[in-house]
Amino acid sequence: METGRVLISEEQIAERLREMGEEITRDYEGRSLLMVGILRGAFMVMADLARRVRLPVEFDFMAVASYGAATKTSGVVRILKDLDEEIAGRHVLLVEDIVDSGLTLDYLLKTLRLRRPASMELASLLVKKDMQRVPVEVRYTGFTIGPEFVVGYGLDFDQVYRNLPYIGVLDQHSL
Ligand code: 5GP
Repeated sequence: METGRVLISEEQIAERLREMGEEITRDYEGRSLLMVGILRGAFMVMADLARRVRLPVEFDFMAVASYGAATKTSGVVRILKDLDEEIAGRHVLLVEDIVDSGLTLDYLLKTLRLRRPASMELASLLVKKDMQRVPVEVRYTGFTIGPEFVVGYGLDFDQVYRNLPYIGVLDQHSL
């Protein structure tokens, strides 16, 4: 990437997702799992993490809008696409790319809990340290990072950079 630096390499991501997949496999042994990816950012984590889970897995996706082209959270969450599946009685694992203020997930968790899943846990590749404005329990965390704005591996800046195979930080002047 010409305009930034690598924060977490492709190899580090792969290794950590392998470990998370093994942990999930152990924790859900004997059960089947519904993995729910939060679009758009989580599509890459979802694909790579799911391939490390050795359980019967089904997939569903939700699309929410929380950010525009700006890099600050608005706290306003709009569901653009709801789940296709019923989640009542299912073991649901929400898969996120990043937890920042936690407002998006707080809203999503509250909404989805009303549908009475058998269990609902959260996996996020990245969690920003000390940035949560509401408490969000992340059962499976990939990496804890600082407050910097990151891109790549599904995460965008103004819809670009999602295809970077690593997590990068943009230089100030490029934002
Ligand atoms: P939260 O509601 O936790 O503040 O924000 C969650 C959403 O904000 C994420 O799913 C992601 O879309 C966006 N977001 C938060 N921090 C970053 C960041 O550092 N980089 C990018 N690209 N998106 C972020």
